[in-house]
Amino acid sequence: MIVPASMLTAPLTLTAQVVVVGSGAGGALAAERIARAGKDVVVLEAGPFVPAARMNQREREMMRLLYWEGGMRATEDGGMGVLHGRGLGGSTVVNYLDCFRTPARVLDHWADARGLPELTPGKMAPRFDRIFEVLGVQKLPESGLNPNNRKLMEGGRALGWQGDTFHRNANQCYGSGFCDLGCAYNAKQSAAITFIPLAMAAGARVYTEVRVDRVLFDAGRAVGVSGMALDADRKPIQPVTVHAETVVVSCGAIESAHLLLRSGTPDASGQLGRNLYLHPSCPVVGHFPGERIANYEGVKQGYYIGEFSGPLSGHPDDFLLEGIGAPPGIAATVFSGLGAERQATFAHLNEYAVVGVLLRDLDTGTVTSGAGRPKITYALSRADGLRMQRGVLAAARAMLAAGAAVSLTSHNPARILRTEADFGRVLDTPLDPGAMAMFSFHQMGTCRMGDRRDRDVVNPEGRFWEVPGLYVADSSIFPESSGVNPQITVYGLADVVAEGIASR
Ligand SMILES: Cc1cc2nc3c(=O)[nH]c(=O)nc-3n(C[C@H](O)[C@H](O)[C@H](O)COP(=O)(O)OP(=O)(O)OC[C@H]3O[C@@H](n4cnc5c(N)ncnc54)[C@H](O)[C@@H]3O)c2cc1C
Repeated sequence: MIVPASMLTAPLTLTAQVVVVGSGAGGALAAERIARAGKDVVVLEAGPFVPAARMNQREREMMRLLYWEGGMRATEDGGMGVLHGRGLGGSTVVNYLDCFRTPARVLDHWADARGLPELTPGKMAPRFDRIFEVLGVQKLPESGLNPNNRKLMEGGRALGWQGDTFHRNANQCYGSGFCDLGCAYNAKQSAAITFIPLAMAAGARVYTEVRVDRVLFDAGRAVGVSGMALDADRKPIQPVTVHAETVVVSCGAIESAHLLLRSGTPDASGQLGRNLYLHPSCPVVGHFPGERIANYEGVKQGYYIGEFSGPLSGHPDDFLLEGIGAPPGIAATVFSGLGAERQATFAHLNEYAVVGVLLRDLDTGTVTSGAGRPKITYALSRADGLRMQRGVLAAARAMLAAGAAVSLTSHNPARILRTEADFGRVLDTPLDPGAMAMFSFHQMGTCRMGDRRDRDVVNPEGRFWEVPGLYVADSSIFPESSGVNPQITVYGLADVVAEGIASR
């Protein structure tokens, strides 16, 4: 049963063996795995359960309902939008369904450099097999590509670059194109309709609209959590306390760090909240005059180019190019200009193909605890910025090779690229905050996992070195950025942590 705490009329106090905070990829899998082992599990989720029937595909309403800060969260300098989901199922409800098993190169590196033998490709393979099965992951056939993604494929092939269609956790997806506003057809196999129901079938109790504000400690160990039930306007209405011998924090890399910092969690490594990776992304547009691309229709992300990806091809530039569509509101945040200039751009919206550049960042930012909200400090380093610019040029090259008349970047103002001779204008641009529209859809690393208590926030079992009973199971335990879309890695790492808790 899912209990919406917005209905509470009195304080709520519960007792469980394990309390899981957050119900996204990490929390949902952890709850399922631990409940299946026979433990009494309570799940607390800050956002509501939004069933498919409530997903009305209206951008303003759904962004407010399904994202933290209505999708307007950003780094402190405003240089990068930071999007992550809020609600039962977390970001898996709003994501684009791409499923990459963590590449062997990444797992081998993490296992060696961080002392994490459980993460070798051989040991992770059966975990990924089960996760793929539960999520119903299948490879998209080329016939399923929309014109937008097809342009990327054609451009990449003309240049001889390696690429492929995505694997996706979709069941009978007909391509409505509203993935980031929640799937009104339940085709997306999010955690809310896969691992959460499995957790409940195994006995887990799930409470939505409970914002956890503190981890509770007694004599140095975690003993539960406290927070507030929220009404539909997110105003606190009743206190909620859960007493539990094991606390699993799975709030995502921004909110987990925020919660643990606010709670004053002992951390000898000094790394809690640091090592924030954001996988900076930016759109690059190809203009195909007279062709109807309608990038927001059909399967949004269908095709990627792995030619320049470190994890996939070993390339040092380390970025992916991914076809991506955007609803008009998001598209509006990308195009610069005002008034007539902006209107002119928008008049041709249906003729634009869009490619997302997804950078594997090597340098990091931090999350600190501000006045009731996390402060995200992150500036693209010079080295990362240069690789990003090369990603922009590769995307432009693919669009021009596919026959685009021009390629536009998300710089402010946009750089208009017609031939390679124009490319210097991109490389010469310093990437100051705000110089180019950038977004993060993947946040990682603020509670990194490893075998050294002076360097890593949680140990190889996902437990805080200094605090018995306190575990983290989500994207914050990534030792570094994964370089590929991370949801399957999150599920996989949560499985490692949950298996340990289940067996204890
Ligand atoms: C628009 C978008 C598109 C994406 N597309 C893809 C994709 O195609 N492929 C891919 O691999 N990845 C994609 N991702 C990323 C992927 O979905 C995430 O990396 C993954 O879901 C992270 O899992 P998590 O458990 O760390 O956090 P989340 O899934 O974000 O879950 C965290 C949960 O904790 C809850 N929470 C936070 N704080 C509290 C609190 N104090 N109390 C109670 N609950 C709390 C949140 O509300 C949320 O439900 C996308 C993300 C976004 C935003």
